Amino acid sequence: MSTRRITLAVPNKGRLVEPTLHLLHDAGLVFEERDRSLVSRVENVAIDILFVRTNDVVEFVRDSVADLGITGADLLAESGVDLPVVRRLGYGRCRLTAAVPRDAVQQGVEELAGLRVATSHPRATRRWFADRSIDVAVIPLSGAVEVAPRLGLAEAIVDLVSTGATLATNGLRSIGDLFPSEAILVGSPAALDAQADDVDRLSTMLGAVLEGRRRKYVMMNAPADRLGELEALLPGLESPSVIPLAHPGMIAIHAVVGADDVWALLPRLKDAGASGILVLPIEKLIA
Ligand code: AMP
Repeated sequence: MSTRRITLAVPNKGRLVEPTLHLLHDAGLVFEERDRSLVSRVENVAIDILFVRTNDVVEFVRDSVADLGITGADLLAESGVDLPVVRRLGYGRCRLTAAVPRDAVQQGVEELAGLRVATSHPRATRRWFADRSIDVAVIPLSGAVEVAPRLGLAEAIVDLVSTGATLATNGLRSIGDLFPSEAILVGSPAALDAQADDVDRLSTMLGAVLEGRRRKYVMMNAPADRLGELEALLPGLESPSVIPLAHPGMIAIHAVVGADDVWALLPRLKDAGASGILVLPIEKLIA
């Protein structure tokens, strides 16, 4: 096994910071954030965490200053750098969308041909329209993209949205998405080769946390003769564990279920004879 410490670049500001630190802590990495100074040494694993601007993560990994990095998929696309995505992380979900003023005539992205499109993702936007042979003039802006139509800088914008509330507040209407984005773990090809085992272990642990969050552990007691009915309600990860109880004719059932299903499932379990139903969080899950 390699003895070199892995360097992981993570955002030091902005909306990806909290979910990223939360994920790393939940994965079991013990480190102090020390006001997000440049580097934090992980105490229990050979990893150093480098806090950098979200926009700089890809460059740090490309230049092998960091072995791994966490950033937005949109920023990897915008960088034009071809880095391997080790794992998609499921948070920071948004989409790069094209929008026009609410009362504009355009209904679809192809109708933007010949128009000006303001965006802080000029490279990804140019490539996307060029790939579809739609001729637009891309106006690069570093921020406040949503006010560009009002200022007369462009007829349309391409911007990141999650709920669309910011678009609506600015009197804009989406006419189509370029692509979806989420936080991703990227790696330098050199590190993925030389530090393969360590990278794999980190990626597995992050995945275990993400999988665990999507599931719940459900325990219940039930009359043994209702097992079939209850099992049918519990497709779960594998068949549920069934444990006989001291009380004759009674069993305990343990199962892993989708976190989103709990709301609908519990009343049905109760109706099928379950009692003493407990729902527990799952810290990590490796299927
Ligand atoms: P920051 O500008 O540092 O707050 O982070 C921006 C990154 O967060 C983007 O590059 C996306 O990957 C991600 N993100 C998630 N949701 C949104 C959103 N609604 N608007 C902008 N960025 C978002």
